[in-house]
Amino acid sequence: MNIHEYQAKELLAKFGVPVPAGHAAMSVEEAVEAAERLPGPLWVVKAQIHAGGRGKGKFKELGPDAKGGVRLAKSIDDVRDHAADMLGNTLVTIQTGAEGKQVQRLYITDGVDIEKEFYLALLVDRATGRIAIVASTEGGMDIEEVAHSSPEKIHTITIDPATGLMPHHGRAVAAALGLTGDLAKQAANVTAKLYEAFVGTDASQVEINPLAITGDNKLVVLDAKVGFDSNAMFRHKDLAELRDLSEEDPMEIEASKYDLAYIKLDGNIGCMVNGAGLAMATMDIIKLNGAEPANFLDVGGGANTEKVTAAFKIILSDPSVKGILVNIFGGIMRCDIIAEGIVAAAKEVSLGVPLVVRLEGTNVQQGKDILAMSGLPIVAADDLGDAAKKIVAQVKEFA
Ligand code: ADP
Ligand code: MG
Repeated sequence: MNIHEYQAKELLAKFGVPVPAGHAAMSVEEAVEAAERLPGPLWVVKAQIHAGGRGKGKFKELGPDAKGGVRLAKSIDDVRDHAADMLGNTLVTIQTGAEGKQVQRLYITDGVDIEKEFYLALLVDRATGRIAIVASTEGGMDIEEVAHSSPEKIHTITIDPATGLMPHHGRAVAAALGLTGDLAKQAANVTAKLYEAFVGTDASQVEINPLAITGDNKLVVLDAKVGFDSNAMFRHKDLAELRDLSEEDPMEIEASKYDLAYIKLDGNIGCMVNGAGLAMATMDIIKLNGAEPANFLDVGGGANTEKVTAAFKIILSDPSVKGILVNIFGGIMRCDIIAEGIVAAAKEVSLGVPLVVRLEGTNVQQGKDILAMSGLPIVAADDLGDAAKKIVAQVKEFA
C-alpha cells in the first residue's frame, strides 16, 4: 500500500526526520489558506499523486509549455494560480503511463534554498532478505538512469537484522554521499530516523529523492515515497486510513474486498485459478500458446460460491477480456463449489465470451456434472495444456 508525499512527510516527521513545513489542500481556497499559514516568501505547490516524476510531468489539459506538477510560487497569488491550474487536471509523468493521473490533492510547502540534492532510500532487498540502504550523490534526477549509465555512483549498504542499524551504517551513508563534519552527523541521524520509521511501520520502501542540503547547511527531505507491506497492515490501523482508493485500480479494490489476489494485465484471456503457483503456470501456458493473459487471479484455498462469483464478475467487468480460462485444482477447494460459483456467476452476468474450464481433484465428477447440466456453453478441458489450447482457439474463432 502506497501513500501520498504529504502523508509520508507527516509520518516521517513523527519519527524526527527533518521535513519542511507544509499542508495538504483539496481546493484552491484550502491551498491559499495553507500558504497563509506558512512564512513564505517562497512556497512550492506540489501535485499529490502516487507517481514520481511530477516535476518534469505535463498536464494533459494544459499546453506543452505549461509548468509541471511541482511549482515554485513567489506570492500567495502565485499559489492560487498554480492550484487552480493543477486541481482536477490530469498529470502525465514517466511513472503514470500515457493516461496520466487526475490531481485531486495538493501539498503546499515551504520553498527551500537547495545547495545540493542526494538520493537516499530504504527497501527490502529480496536477494539478501535484509533491509538495504541505497545512497547516491546523484539525487533529484531519474535514479534508474543513473543506475543504468553510472552504477558506481549508487552505494548499497545492507543491515543485519540481528544487530539492526549501527552507528557505522550511518557513517557509511555519510561517506557514500561525500559528507564530512556536521553534515555527516546529520546524514547519520536522518538515516537512523528513517530506519526507525521503516521498521516501525512495516514499510516496504522509503525513498527520499531528493534529500537536500539547504543554503544554511541543513539536510532536509524534499520528496518522500513510502509504501507499506500490505500483509502487515492489520498491525497498523492508523496507517490503513491513509489509503487513497482513487489511486488504485477499481477492480483490484473490488477483489481485495473478497480477499482475492487479482492483478490486471494487458492481454485478453481472463484467468481464474487457485494457488499462486498454478496461476503463474496458467499465465505461462497461455503465452506459450501465443496469447496473453488479461489478469492474474488467485481465488485462494478456502473459496466459497460467493467468492468465486465475485471473481468471475471481476474478470468479466474488464472489457478487454475475450475469453476465460478457469483452471482449478480441487485440493482444499472442492470442484463442485467452483462449478456452482461459475454457473451462478455466468447466469448473473450474461456470459458473452467463450469459457474453458479445467477441473481436477476433489469432487471433480460432481463439478463436471454441474457444468454439463447448467445449459451454459462451457468447454471442458482435460489438462492444463489442453485448456490453454482450447481457450486460445476459442478466442481466435470468436474474434
Ligand atoms: P518528483 O520527484 O515527483 O518530480 P519532487 O518532490 O522530487 O517531485 O520535486 C521535484 C524537484 O522540485 C526536486 O528535485 C527539487 O529540486 C524541487 N523541489 C521539491 N520540493 C521543493 C521544496 N520544498 N523547495 C524547493 N524545491 C523543491
Ligand atoms: Mg522526487
